[in-house]
Amino acid sequence: MIIMLDYDFPPYRPPNEAASALIRASRGCPWNKCLFCTMYKTIKFKTKSIEEVKKDIDKASDIYKGAKTVFIADSDSLVMKDIEEIIQYIRQRFPDIDRLTTYARAKTLMKLGEKRLKKIKKAGLTRVHVGLESGDRQTLDCMQKGETPEEMIAGGKAARDAGLELSFYLLIGAGGKDRLIEHAVESANVCNKVNPDFIRLRTLVVQQGSLLEEKKNSGKYKPTSPIEK
Ligand code: SF4
Repeated sequence: MIIMLDYDFPPYRPPNEAASALIRASRGCPWNKCLFCTMYKTIKFKTKSIEEVKKDIDKASDIYKGAKTVFIADSDSLVMKDIEEIIQYIRQRFPDIDRLTTYARAKTLMKLGEKRLKKIKKAGLTRVHVGLESGDRQTLDCMQKGETPEEMIAGGKAARDAGLELSFYLLIGAGGKDRLIEHAVESANVCNKVNPDFIRLRTLVVQQGSLLEEKKNSGKYKPTSPIEK
């Protein structure tokens, strides 16, 4: 346990990265405004220096000897200008891995574009985990996701065209009672247009202390029942 705390250990990762070595290249989320999310609310987004990240990678490679998969945290590390160097260093220190993944915002993928994403893929990244949450514009607005369906499609397609595997996360129940049908139908539309490798369903829970809880308490958001979800 003492060794585990010896480097910047990232607490958040997708469930299927449970067995992965975790490398925290940045801390927090550059957007950090989604109403349903409480993950990084106490952290101001910060990218770490390449020296700091490399030190963590060195320590992690001792801790996770023989790891087959590595996950880069926190929520949008592809915004880092030296991300390719970080990815290449992970590949160097973890020569046995067959999967290297990270979270990414669709808007970031869209801004990076296919050409840059191809370089990132060439450096050794294999998959991006993207929170689509919904394909419905009003639901995305209601949740303060800061992204439109068009940006979700553009970002998702850029990743796919660059040869990266894409995992979309859908937030079941995000539309609430008011956008029950639209949330489902428009989310399917975005998924059909992008054709991601994985569509993972996550059920919305209005978390205590979240901005969504305030919205719910003021009557501006009406959560769905389990059956409606
Ligand atoms: S859901 Fe993702 S983009 Fe939204 S605040 Fe949380 S970490 Fe940031």
